[in-house]
Amino acid sequence: MSLNSHDAALTAAERDRILAKAAAFAPPGNLLPDGRRDLVGLSRESLAAEVAAIGEQKFRAKQLWHWIYHQGVTDFALMSSIARPLQQKLAEHFVVGRPEIAADQRSSDQTRKFLFKFRDNEAVETVYIPDPVEDRGAVCISSQVGCTLSCRFCHTGTQRLARNLSAAEIVGQFMAARDAYGEWPSPKGETPRLLSTIVLMGMGEPLYNYENVATAMKIVMDGEGIGLSRRRITLSTSGVVPMMDRAGEELGVNLAVSLHAVRDDLRDELVPLNRKYPIAELIAACRRYPAASNARRITFEYVMLDGINDTPADARALVQLLAGLPAKVNLIPFNPWPGSAYKTSTPAAIRKFADIVLAAGYSSPVRTPRGQDILAACGQLKSDVELRQAS
Ligand code: SAH
Ligand code: SF4
Repeated sequence: MSLNSHDAALTAAERDRILAKAAAFAPPGNLLPDGRRDLVGLSRESLAAEVAAIGEQKFRAKQLWHWIYHQGVTDFALMSSIARPLQQKLAEHFVVGRPEIAADQRSSDQTRKFLFKFRDNEAVETVYIPDPVEDRGAVCISSQVGCTLSCRFCHTGTQRLARNLSAAEIVGQFMAARDAYGEWPSPKGETPRLLSTIVLMGMGEPLYNYENVATAMKIVMDGEGIGLSRRRITLSTSGVVPMMDRAGEELGVNLAVSLHAVRDDLRDELVPLNRKYPIAELIAACRRYPAASNARRITFEYVMLDGINDTPADARALVQLLAGLPAKVNLIPFNPWPGSAYKTSTPAAIRKFADIVLAAGYSSPVRTPRGQDILAACGQLKSDVELRQAS
């Protein structure tokens, strides 16, 4: 057996282990206590199977898909291409669900944070981040309730993993945010503009809930529904190497990698997953990532922690690490949260770091913290405390 096929076998085994673990944290299914089923979050095939199960023809699934994902309609009575008796029959068997808004906060900079509660009372936070210049913005979506990974600087990491989100709950965050802004196509044919980008950068590690994330992203990318281009979706991972190839091949979305350190000893401490998939393996996976090119660079996220990872030597090592990769670097000043142990790097240290990276030819924007006053900035999301207060 060649080394390569041995590696491939190991990777496949590791991938199976990750998927099995994800299944152990599976979300509840789509059956409501009243016996109806939620149609949101089903793949096209599964939706067709539901329609067939109540004795209706296949083309009805196509009609439903259009109403649910293109028009954003949740009431069968408003689906005007479907005759009344069938609308009633559908309503007897199905619902078009949305997560419940348990809290809704607006920052002074217009960033808006939702706490969405699901049927089993678990909840996650979702953030709408308006572009400060253009008339649009991004929806920052969560993939898990909590996180298993305990990165030292991240608020979500202090909340144990309660469970994975279902595809319905992932796509439902985006749809509920669209509801809140009235951002569905108007009868006049105007298409939504504000909520036109998704970043999978909320609570949780998306590649530890791969199947549900993938189903949800395929739904939002479907051209007969929401129709977001894969270029408008960015998946952020702390570096789950065995799942990165699969995400690249199947979804082809933009990739963001939470690097945060250039030496294994430091990254082991900041991002404990590094002990399993060290920097060299992570960078190798980035080099293989199929959707990366000079037009679609991989974003390396780097949280700026005062006196920890922010020296000019770190910046130079970062540049060496990225050599030859289509990459850009996103410098994120550390966002503090109650009880956090770090300080944000000084503006001078951040500027110097950014200059070194830029001089090497990599774009190195410093991310302005958004919604800090409502704890909505990167790494500040957490839902268990808030939910207890809300209920
Ligand atoms: N779990 C995924 C996605 C979520 S977080 C991941 O780790 O990539 C989105 C980004 O915010 C990540 O790069 C994360 O490391 C970073 N982050 C977490 N806590 C932060 C904090 N307190 N301040 C600034 N960035 C933080
Ligand atoms: Fe989890 Fe990402 Fe936070 Fe790490 S940074 S604890 S992977 S959500």
